[in-house]
Amino acid sequence: MIKQNVQFLPHEEHVFIVISQNRILKEIEQTGLLQQSWQQLTFLHEYRDEVVEVGNFDDKRVFVVDMGNEQPGIEKYETASLRSMLLQLPTHWFEIVSRAWQTALFLRTHRFCGQCGSRMQNVGWELAVHCDTCQHRCYPRISPCIIVAIRKGNQILLAQGKNHTGGMFSTLAGFVESGETLEQAVHREVYEEVSVKVKNLQYFSSQPWPFPHSLMCGFLAEYDSGEIAVDGDEIVEAHWFDFDDLPKIPPVFSIAGQLIQATLKGTSS
Ligand SMILES: [Zn+2]
Repeated sequence: MIKQNVQFLPHEEHVFIVISQNRILKEIEQTGLLQQSWQQLTFLHEYRDEVVEVGNFDDKRVFVVDMGNEQPGIEKYETASLRSMLLQLPTHWFEIVSRAWQTALFLRTHRFCGQCGSRMQNVGWELAVHCDTCQHRCYPRISPCIIVAIRKGNQILLAQGKNHTGGMFSTLAGFVESGETLEQAVHREVYEEVSVKVKNLQYFSSQPWPFPHSLMCGFLAEYDSGEIAVDGDEIVEAHWFDFDDLPKIPPVFSIAGQLIQATLKGTSS
């Protein structure tokens, strides 16, 4: 359930995910999100028409407000990056924070019609924007990606992307291209990135990934043939790692971390 043009009850406490300068607002020295009534958050009142309700969490209504480049200018607040917030919050917050972030991003990047250039209007009863001039309507963009853990005996193929910081190695991932099935995307991406062929694909699970609007579709796969040769573009290093000698890997709240754990548990099967 995502709603625009929302109504607040006086003094009822809500969860507010407030975005300021592309970061999330929080109280200094607190790790959680803002949980207050609308009345208390006076600095947000000028954004009243832009508040979007993105769901419920722990019996509280959850709203997102995007302040754009503005800041509250109040000493008790600071901002944190989306990534650091997701790392700090309990993992069950991941889905609602991701949804809020992607909703704000959608509204920020669809102010004008991509077809005729007119200003877009919020539809209100559904999360969409509409052009009254040419009737073009846009919905939030979701980009499917495959992500795959490849096993060979008691080894797993992990790679370091050019954007991976801190020496982390992860599973391979890539965007699905137009006209391609998820399975075709797995075979193509793996071969493009590390020159290896895989077999016995098994669907694992999916995860919305708000960097910026991916839907990660996870697979487990077995090695089929080929020697690792990285593309040097997206992937700078890739190796077969023994299960008992892994490098730094992603946290388990991410589907990459879950795929790695599932591959390790498959040892005895
Ligand atoms: Zn238009």
